[in-house]
Amino acid sequence: MSEMELKELNKIWQEILNSIELEVSKPTFKTWFVNTNIVERRGEKIIIGVPSNFVKEWLKKKFLNLITKHIKKFFQDVKTIDFVVVNKPIISISHIYKKEIQSSSKLEIFQIDPKTNLNKKYRFSNFVVGSNNELAFAAAEGIVKNPGEKYNPLFVYGGVGLGKTHLLQAIGNEILEKNKNLNVKYLTCDRFISELVNYIKNQQIEEFKLKFKDLDILIIDDVHFLSQKDRAQTELFHIFNFLYDRGKQIVFSSDRPPVLINDIEERLRSRFEGGLVVDITPPDYETRLAILKMKLSEKGEYLPDEILSLIAEKVQKNVRELEGVLNKVLIYASKKQQINKEILDKILKEYYQDTYKLVSPSRILNIVASFYEINQKYLLEPTRKKEYVKPRQILMYLLRELANLSYPAIGEKIGGRDHTTVMYACEKIKKDIQRNEDLAREVEILKEKILNG
Ligand code: ADP
Ligand code: MG
Repeated sequence: MSEMELKELNKIWQEILNSIELEVSKPTFKTWFVNTNIVERRGEKIIIGVPSNFVKEWLKKKFLNLITKHIKKFFQDVKTIDFVVVNKPIISISHIYKKEIQSSSKLEIFQIDPKTNLNKKYRFSNFVVGSNNELAFAAAEGIVKNPGEKYNPLFVYGGVGLGKTHLLQAIGNEILEKNKNLNVKYLTCDRFISELVNYIKNQQIEEFKLKFKDLDILIIDDVHFLSQKDRAQTELFHIFNFLYDRGKQIVFSSDRPPVLINDIEERLRSRFEGGLVVDITPPDYETRLAILKMKLSEKGEYLPDEILSLIAEKVQKNVRELEGVLNKVLIYASKKQQINKEILDKILKEYYQDTYKLVSPSRILNIVASFYEINQKYLLEPTRKKEYVKPRQILMYLLRELANLSYPAIGEKIGGRDHTTVMYACEKIKKDIQRNEDLAREVEILKEKILNG
């Protein structure tokens, strides 16, 4: 193919890119489509050059239909589209993106609208959709299209750091983007409860209720905290009914499905379950990789794909950790440290130590005991009663994982048990977590409470 022909082709490719740009979000476009071009046309085949293998796989997997659709507009007879990695220095997207980010991020990231409580940084466009969250995302999109109609209420549940808050706030932001006259309010459950308590204290409960009357969209995050909060449950129940009857959209999130929220009124539980209940699970490897790319592009930074793959391999639990480790890697990289496997291991170790260093054994004991509503002494005494066995094993497991205690040290704490007993317990929980999703979630919740609560 002559150079002229190639030039012509790429002019058209630019046009194709322009129309693709209109259909995807800005970060998506910048992450996946910038630095691509047509390298060849061979009969019914078009070959697109991309900057890395990673981009190639992702385009093939997620955007092939979109690309095909647009290519067909210009080349009706093209049947196949192929991608090749073009070996030229990758231009970091950061150069294009950095300016915009720097000027906006400082303002935006901490910008929480006092009326809606929404933080503008949470958008659909910077939410990576993978198999772990696609249902929740589709529901969220549905709500933005037709609030109050299809999925009402929407109840999203999942472990910590998996994107619930991001998705819920994004629903609010996207709705306002479409129609800024709608009345949207986002509240964490804690905030709902503490405001209620204040209004009650000042004997202004009617005023409290009034605050919700005119809402079109009510979003309440982390409703598992309603457990045992009888008054808050009652008020929420009435607010819910009031809004629901008027066709207003309501969205909830929780760290567990409604059936597993303890000490909550049945009638409220059935409201939670009355619309669509969807979960978000931990992201798979590919999604983790894509999230890393997204976070990098938001920060206007660049790291080679090999490093990103390493991080995505190692950090599997949740997105918050993924971000935390990425930030640490960026600090190392900015000091001109060569990032390799060994350095990454060191960074991970540091990250977990920093995150977990405040965890004392007594804190773990406290939280496990109150979570299972067991008197601490039964966890420590050598009773063999069945209902204490599992919590005690989990306690040992957490002492090992979070407080880094040795098996003998744990044995000593838990009523002078032999270290092999402790080892057995820790191994058992470790194995069970992999087989039993409910247990995994329970332990996840406990860890979150211990680390952040
Ligand atoms: P949760 O509320 O479930 O504990 P968050 O919504 O606070 O989790 O998410 C933790 C961090 O991870 C946030 O910075 C969020 O932007 C990010 N995050 C989570 N899921 C995604 C995703 N799918 N795409 C992009 N960022 C994500
Ligand atoms: Mg959250």
